[in-house]
Amino acid sequence: MKPVFLDRDGVISIFTPDDYIKKWSEFEFLPTAFEGLKKLTENGFDIVIISNQAGVGRGLFSIEDLQNITQKMQQELKKHGAEIYKVYYCVHKKEDDCNCRKPKIGLIEQFIAENGEFEREKTFFVGDADVDIETGIKSGLRTILVLSGKTKLVDEVQSWNFKPEFIANNIKEAADIIIKETKKGE
Ligand SMILES: [Mg+2]
Ligand SMILES: [Zn+2]
Repeated sequence: MKPVFLDRDGVISIFTPDDYIKKWSEFEFLPTAFEGLKKLTENGFDIVIISNQAGVGRGLFSIEDLQNITQKMQQELKKHGAEIYKVYYCVHKKEDDCNCRKPKIGLIEQFIAENGEFEREKTFFVGDADVDIETGIKSGLRTILVLSGKTKLVDEVQSWNFKPEFIANNIKEAADIIIKETKKGE
């Protein structure tokens, strides 16, 4: 197994600062999402989405709405040659203090429990926010920050406790880094 962990909002789809993606009509792919995920698929990576969706816990949309978005997203990606291997969501609110809301690593642990261990030191986590980088590092993974979502400027990283190994403009650039780095390690 060759997993690559991706956050969803701000990496694959648009990041909405003051709202959640509550239904499929609000979901919008980022410009390089198809190309980036297709590249990863073609290079044999198992794409795993790890995403916080607290809007469910807040009652703004249901698990069924989330499943519908996920299904349509996967169908659309498939049309463009990109395959999603697994999708893991934390649907809790911050106040619930669950162990799966990023920056906690519960979803990565769940993935390992269900799919088995892999070479973590050779595996990437890609996200647009500080919590993604923290989750990746705490899980023993390599990290890439993309500037296509919550984080807009490289300078923002300076105040973070957990800093990304790489910074890319978008998921397509991140895919190129992952493919190059993986070849180096072979
Ligand atoms: Mg995000
Ligand atoms: Zn949770």
